[in-house]
Amino acid sequence: MIEENAAERSSTITRSASAQMPSRFGDFRIYAFQCTSDGQEYGAVVKGDITNGTGVPVRLHSECFTGDLMGSLRCDCRDQLEAALEYIGSIECGAVVYLRQEGRGIGLVNKVRAYALQDGGLDTVEANHALGFPDDLRQYNIAADILRELEVGSVRLISNNPNKRDGLLAAGITVDSLIPHRMTPNSHNASYLMTKKIKSGHLL
Ligand SMILES: [Zn+2]
Repeated sequence: MIEENAAERSSTITRSASAQMPSRFGDFRIYAFQCTSDGQEYGAVVKGDITNGTGVPVRLHSECFTGDLMGSLRCDCRDQLEAALEYIGSIECGAVVYLRQEGRGIGLVNKVRAYALQDGGLDTVEANHALGFPDDLRQYNIAADILRELEVGSVRLISNNPNKRDGLLAAGITVDSLIPHRMTPNSHNASYLMTKKIKSGHLL
């Protein structure tokens, strides 16, 4: 991975719109962003006033069409997203940033190809390698630019993934700590979660 110096690069993110967003998880404000580096649109929901806040609880959630939207039990993404929204909805302030990196960055088509290989017995890491990808292609420079646009001072990251913390730190965001975010496994995702723990270093 190419290390970038956050101080030397200009932001890839423009904060383009915002509005109130009452939700089943509480009263949020939705922010919509346009990204010049990948041409995609991004969204974040914010509870309370996080401007210049320190230790702001933040969840960086990577898009999961199968789990978040379709209710797939192959992963724990939807549980993690809803738990993060519930948690932030119950406290004074915080944010959930939704990142456009489906399938840990390999996209939907390759993710479903990896699922087919997993149906044949490979684990998530082996399946990605069989397709010619590293086990995780996600990057956090865009997330860092979004957090800067939201003027967050420092964050407490709602995650079990030390790589996510390290990615944000490398992109110039101060991460005070990790807030553990562990979901109860189901019969379909137990081995997926075990692979996250053993091969990908997640704190599960
Ligand atoms: Zn998922």
